[in-house]
Amino acid sequence: MLQSYLKDTWVSPAASGPATDVHDAVTGEVVCRVAAQAPDLAGAFDHARDVGGPALRALTFHQRADLLDALAAAVRERREELYALSARAGATLLDARYDVDGGIRVLRDYAARARAELPDDGYLVEGPAERLARGEDFVGLHLCTPSPGLMLQVNAFNFPVWAPLEKLAQALLAGLPGIVKPATPTAYVTEHLVRIATDAAVLPPGTLQLAVGSIRPALDLLGEQDVLSFTGSAATAALLRAHPRVVARSVRFNAEADSVNAIVLGPDVRPGSDLFAGFVREVTTEMTVKAGQKCTAIRRILVPREVEPAALAAISAALSAVTIGNPASPEVRMGALVSLAQRDEVRRAARTIAAAGRFVHGDPGKVTLVDADAERGAFLDTILIAADPDAGAPHEVEPFGPVATVLAYRDTAHATDLLARGRGSLAATLVSDDIPWTLAVLRQAAPWHGRLHVLDTADLGQTTGHGSPLAALKHGGPGRAGGGSELAGVRGVVDLMQRTAVQASPRLAATLRASEQARS
Ligand code: NAP
Repeated sequence: MLQSYLKDTWVSPAASGPATDVHDAVTGEVVCRVAAQAPDLAGAFDHARDVGGPALRALTFHQRADLLDALAAAVRERREELYALSARAGATLLDARYDVDGGIRVLRDYAARARAELPDDGYLVEGPAERLARGEDFVGLHLCTPSPGLMLQVNAFNFPVWAPLEKLAQALLAGLPGIVKPATPTAYVTEHLVRIATDAAVLPPGTLQLAVGSIRPALDLLGEQDVLSFTGSAATAALLRAHPRVVARSVRFNAEADSVNAIVLGPDVRPGSDLFAGFVREVTTEMTVKAGQKCTAIRRILVPREVEPAALAAISAALSAVTIGNPASPEVRMGALVSLAQRDEVRRAARTIAAAGRFVHGDPGKVTLVDADAERGAFLDTILIAADPDAGAPHEVEPFGPVATVLAYRDTAHATDLLARGRGSLAATLVSDDIPWTLAVLRQAAPWHGRLHVLDTADLGQTTGHGSPLAALKHGGPGRAGGGSELAGVRGVVDLMQRTAVQASPRLAATLRASEQARS
C-alpha cells in the first residue's frame, strides 16, 4: 500500500479502506495498491502554509536555487532506482531518462537561471519606475512578492518524475511549498522520488508533501493565495476549472491538458531529401518515445496531397523497424503503455479515427513482441492511419499512444485551416526550407499553438525535437491544450508570485529597488 508524505511524516492509509491494484505494465503483476482516498489533507495544507511557506519566504531566490541544486544532486545519486521502477510502468531506459534526467535538468536549469536573472533577495522589483504625474514626485513600479499559500500539483501519469520536479522548481523559487498528487497508475514512481528527497533531507520541513489517492475533498481547502497546477486530460481540466471553491476564491489555476498536435510537411520538401528524412524521423520518434504517451506527441501529420503516398510508405517503413516488447531487453525500442485500460482506450481511439479512413501500418488488435506476453502486458503496435482531412475525428480524438494520422492537404490555406481544427495545441512542427511559406503558416498557426518548432535543413542536425518542452521556452497551449503556461525561463517563476503595482514617491521607489540591489 503506497504511503503519503504529510507533515514531514510517511503516513499509511487506513488498511480497511477501498484501494486500487496497480499492475506492472509489462508482466501484469501487482506492483502496489493505491488507496481510493488520500488521507485527510487539512493538516497538510496548514503545515505547508504555516511551516513550509515561511521557511521558503525567509530565503532569497539564490538560496532557494541552492535547494533545487541539492534536490537535483539527491535524485541524480539514486536515479537508477527510478529507471528500474519506470520499467515497471512500461518505459524503456531512453523513456526513463527522458523523464528522470529531464527532471534533474530542469531543476539545475532553474537554479542557474535564478542566480543569473533574479536578485539575491526574496522579492523582485520589475521595470524602471515610471512617472505618473506632471511633476516628478509621483512614480509607479511593480513589486512581485511570494504568495503566502501553496501549490497543489495534480499530475498526469505519463511523467511521474519530470512533472513534479518541473513544477516544484518554479514553485520553490517563487516561495510556494508543494503538495504533489500523482496519478494512480504511476504513483509508485513519484512516491519513490519523494522518498529520495526526504531521505536526503535537502528541503526545509513542510515544503514538499505527497498525497496518494483521490484529493477531491481537499479542493475545498484551496484559498486565494494558492495555486492549483493541473496536468492531465482536457475533461478533468474542465471539471477542476469550474470547481466551486476554485471559482469562489479565484484560486490561480494552471492547466496543461491534452492536445492533438501536428506536423506539417511543406510543399517544397522532396521525398528522398535530407529534410524529408528528418520529417520521417521526427514523426517516428514522436510516435514511439514513451510509446506515444506524451502530451506534446505528434498525432496529425499534414502532407501535400501529391506527397501522401511517399509519406505513408516512408513512415510505415520506419515504423516497421521499431522493435516492441519488454523494456528490459536491449533490442527493444518501444515498451508498453501504462496499463491495459490505457491500451484499450488507445485501441478505441485509433478505431474511431480510422473510421474516417484506413489503417496503413499496424493493427490495434495484434502486436509482435520481444520477450513479453501480449495478453498480460499493455502492448500496442505502432499504428499509422490515413484519413479524410476534413473529417472530425482526426482533429478531435487524442489517441494517447503510438498512433498518428496522415492528412493530405490541398494547399497552404487548407493546411492552416486543418491546424486550427485541433482547437488549440501544445506544439506543432513546420518542415520546410521555404522561408516565405514558413512565415505565412507560422503567423496563421501561432494563435493556436503554445510552441512552434520549425525544422529546416539548417537546424536539422541540432534540433531538440518537436516533443521536448524546454525550461527556456513556454510550455502550454491555448484552448483544448488547457490555456496554461509553464516554464518560459524565470517568467514561469514570477507568474507564480503576486504582482502588485506600487504608486509612491521616487524616494520610496528608489529605496525599494536599492534594498533589492544591495542584497544582490
Ligand atoms: P486524467 O485522467 O485527467 O488525470 C490527471 C490527474 O487528475 C490524476 O492525478 C487524476 O487522479 C486526477 N483527477 C482525475 N479526476 C479528478 C477529479 N475529478 N478531481 C481531482 N483530480 C482528478 O489524465 P491522465 O490519464 O493521468 O493523463 C493523460 C492525459 O494527460 C492525456 O490526455 C495527456 O495529453 C495529458 N497530459 C498533458 C500534459 C501537458 O503538459 N499538457 C502532460 C502530460 C499529460 P487519479 O489518477 O487518482 O484519478
